[in-house]
Amino acid sequence: MAAAAAEQDGAKDTKPKGIYPYGSNHANGSEIMTAISPTQDPTGDDVTVVPGESPSEALTRRRLRRRQLLVFAAAFQVVNAALLLIFAAAGTIPVAIATAFTVGAVIVVGGFWALSEIPATDRWRDRTFAQTYAATTFALLLGFVAIAPQVAVVFLSALFLVAQMAGMRATPRYGFAIWIVITAGVATLYWLGGLSFSVPLGNPLERFGTLLTFSLTLGRIVFIGVFASSMQDALSRRRVELETAYKRIEELSELDELTGSYNRRCIMRMLGDETIRAHRTKSPCSIALIDLDWFKRINDTYGHPTGDEVLRTFSIAVFANIRAIDKFGRYGGEEFLLVLPDTPHDMAVVLLDRLRAIIATLDWSAFSEGLIVTISAGVATMEPDESPDALLARADAALYAAKAGGRNLIASA
Ligand code: GH3
Ligand code: MG
Ligand code: MG
Repeated sequence: MAAAAAEQDGAKDTKPKGIYPYGSNHANGSEIMTAISPTQDPTGDDVTVVPGESPSEALTRRRLRRRQLLVFAAAFQVVNAALLLIFAAAGTIPVAIATAFTVGAVIVVGGFWALSEIPATDRWRDRTFAQTYAATTFALLLGFVAIAPQVAVVFLSALFLVAQMAGMRATPRYGFAIWIVITAGVATLYWLGGLSFSVPLGNPLERFGTLLTFSLTLGRIVFIGVFASSMQDALSRRRVELETAYKRIEELSELDELTGSYNRRCIMRMLGDETIRAHRTKSPCSIALIDLDWFKRINDTYGHPTGDEVLRTFSIAVFANIRAIDKFGRYGGEEFLLVLPDTPHDMAVVLLDRLRAIIATLDWSAFSEGLIVTISAGVATMEPDESPDALLARADAALYAAKAGGRNLIASA
């Protein structure tokens, strides 16, 4: 066991940033990151943050996502244009109307495609353009209802799709607004414009066109539903992945952030391992539960940050005075567990009493004038076949006795 005297001088101005127990196996960042799998974000959700992703990678990901949506939008408009061509062939509308709509759709989709490639638009709140595109298309469709009410069925059917697409990314309030605005737009045309919408059924080709309009609208609605559910699946897969990753992070983290000692989970595992080893090799193993005295009072009098510094400095002092094979961890709050392999009871008591004396005689005034810190501990040594819980319970009872005995004391179980 190392000498304590030098540490007594050193400890008072030591402000450790990170101190690690001997032989600890730290989790490294990249190990954690690979568990989260940064490449998969099939939802393309505009608020999703993919760990480990650089800003330019995020930009590219969202751009690809917008392209995908615009490809869908273009395909839908191709269907609309084809339906209009059928009605032009049937004599319901002039070809010029079908052409004009196609030109309008090309301008809208092309315009959004161009916008999507400009990095500045990535800062828009509507990063996927779903809402802005829906609003623009909504205006285009209503305009053409006014221009060509004979084929209003094509444009009105397309409105269902726009509403469905826009609704997929909307909050309840926004979704309600979409519904009201679309209804108001149609009602305005219907009542104020005096337009009569009819379903073209005058000749066989018109009947075919109408049937095809309904059929293709249904098809697209189903397509959007299937697409949405695949997104949902991808999202729930991702949630499971994240949960697994978080669990792994927890398992990998072994250290208590404040003191650099092992955390409770880790020190308990070490106690378990050490118990098994001691029983197998029939070697003596002692433990000590150490608790800082009147710690609540220290916090209350000197402040919580000072309390934290006390915990850190106490841990450093312990580390400096135990062997490499000893395990020191934070059991909870201001209570610590020291596992001492190959240590008979009397040796453990001597060590703990030395630690007690070191803490009690440290000059704590560097933290706060008049600050005094003492510890109490309960020492217990493993009996044959004793479980870790039973051993801990005996150490805890001894600690209780040390507190009852007046504190700044070491008690034996
Ligand atoms: P006793 O001598 O009987 O142990 O008295 P005590 O005041 O130390 O015991 P008690 O369990 O009542 O109080 C423990 C205090 O430790 C209460 C809690 O606010 C404080 N504490 C627990 N964890 C931390 C921490 O991480 N930092 C600080 N500053 N205080 C902590
Ligand atoms: Mg205490
Ligand atoms: Mg306590």
